[in-house]
Amino acid sequence: MDLRIAIVPVGRMDPLEVEAAAARIAKILNRVVALRQPAPVPKAGDDPARGQHLAGPFLSELRGQLARLPVAKTVGAVHASDPAGETPAVADATLFVTDVDLYKQQTDGVFGDIDTAAHVAVVSVRRLREAFYKRKADPARQRARLVKLALYALARARGLPDCGDAGCAMLATASLADIDMKPEKYCAACWRRMTTGAYRL
Ligand SMILES: [Zn+2]
Repeated sequence: MDLRIAIVPVGRMDPLEVEAAAARIAKILNRVVALRQPAPVPKAGDDPARGQHLAGPFLSELRGQLARLPVAKTVGAVHASDPAGETPAVADATLFVTDVDLYKQQTDGVFGDIDTAAHVAVVSVRRLREAFYKRKADPARQRARLVKLALYALARARGLPDCGDAGCAMLATASLADIDMKPEKYCAACWRRMTTGAYRL
């Protein structure tokens, strides 16, 4: 079975920004990516006092909405083994993209969260924007950051482990500077694991 990736904008997240990232990911994977209709912002995890959402409940509620979110369009070249015209209800990995700021306990904030067992992940663009750090906007850098985080989160959602290769998007990163250092691609081994699912040795 071929790789099925779904990407879902959340709330007021700009659909064009999400589609641009999806197109990059489709190109890197050489597979189509299904863009779903936007999900409403979950109430779960809302912390008005912090102006943030707790990432775990936020992702969990999004996952519950998934069955009600039809595929809006597919991006990327159709691969020979893609099921023609089908819009699969399930995906091997699903990524939600939000502009809501997320946090986990004991953190100021996080870039996202991953539920490997459920094959879903969420990334927030809030901390990828230079504006968050009171710096001049840098749209190209922000786009690259979103793609790198998405490559990492999708692969972890699919079950791939971190990678020790500094030339691979699966290198675990904690800071924005680390994200900026790693490339917008998988190493050959991770690409093979991601596209074939052959990661359980
Ligand atoms: Zn790798």
